[in-house]
Amino acid sequence: MDKISIVVPCYNEEEALPFFYKEITEIAKKMDYVEFEFIFINDGSKDKTLNCLRELAINDERVRYISFSRNFGKEAAMYAGLKAATGNYVAVMDADLQDPPKLLIEMYDILQKKEYDCVATRRVNRKGEPPIRSFFAKMFYKIINRISKANIVDGARDFRLMTKQMTDSIISLGEYNRFSKGIFGWVGFETKWLEYENVERVAGKTTWSFWKLFLYSIDGIIAFSTTPLVISTLMGCLFCFLAIIMVLVIIFKTIMYGDPVSGWPSTACIILFVGGIQLFCTGIIGQYIAKTYLEVKGRPIYIVKETEKNVKND
Ligand code: UDP
Ligand code: MG
Repeated sequence: MDKISIVVPCYNEEEALPFFYKEITEIAKKMDYVEFEFIFINDGSKDKTLNCLRELAINDERVRYISFSRNFGKEAAMYAGLKAATGNYVAVMDADLQDPPKLLIEMYDILQKKEYDCVATRRVNRKGEPPIRSFFAKMFYKIINRISKANIVDGARDFRLMTKQMTDSIISLGEYNRFSKGIFGWVGFETKWLEYENVERVAGKTTWSFWKLFLYSIDGIIAFSTTPLVISTLMGCLFCFLAIIMVLVIIFKTIMYGDPVSGWPSTACIILFVGGIQLFCTGIIGQYIAKTYLEVKGRPIYIVKETEKNVKND
């Protein structure tokens, strides 16, 4: 019998968890031809999420949980869940029911045919999202697909069901700066995309502010492309070229028309502009060095404080 491990990162989800658990167990009942395992990751929640998970684990032997010592972020939570999964199929889902559990039935059927290694989901609309956020999201996907090899699909969610083989290859990318949307694409394998309409979260609030998403997108670009470095190099070349032309023009003008002192405002503008570009490029390089620094330190991606074994044994 096949076994599906469902990995659910949870950060302050005490309100959404009961709904989620109810729906997912209903689906599990419908899919009685497979075994299930639910792995919840408590990502340092500040509310009663952990209590809720302890209770679920005591009452349902399929429920497992991993509780972090603090908030390490969704990426770390997914990584921990994928590592802990024991099923021969692994799914990643949000706790807020924005990923409809009923799709699992279809996903499993598709994987059964062995043509695909992974069934992933993307939303076809961004209903209920501020327009400015949609605009920046679209820009991000356009840019990153131009400049990186990881094929990152617009509107792709993290919700997916994949084979153990693919899960293992994702785990083998043990980088500290994790950008799952990129990693999923980078490892390859055959992925089938299911489309669905955006669903609003069932309870609780999203923790992703616009600013957090913006920084996340920059992380994504840095993690999967070195094109910004090339751009800064090219910009340097361009400015050197412009400078040479300007020097030639000035020499020519001085010889032809003498040397009246003028052009202060333009000089100041040029100095400011070039200075700005230099700082910008240094900043880009700095981003890569910072990421390299974090990577080289080799710190663990997450720290576990408690798992279901703590409550199931006694
Ligand atoms: N999440 C997490 N750690 C965090 C932030 C979020 O584990 O630091 C989880 C959260 O509990 C949810 C999922 O990641 O299950 C998606 O978060 P959210 O619904 O806030 O994001 P959105 O759906 O708005 O992209
Ligand atoms: Mg959500």
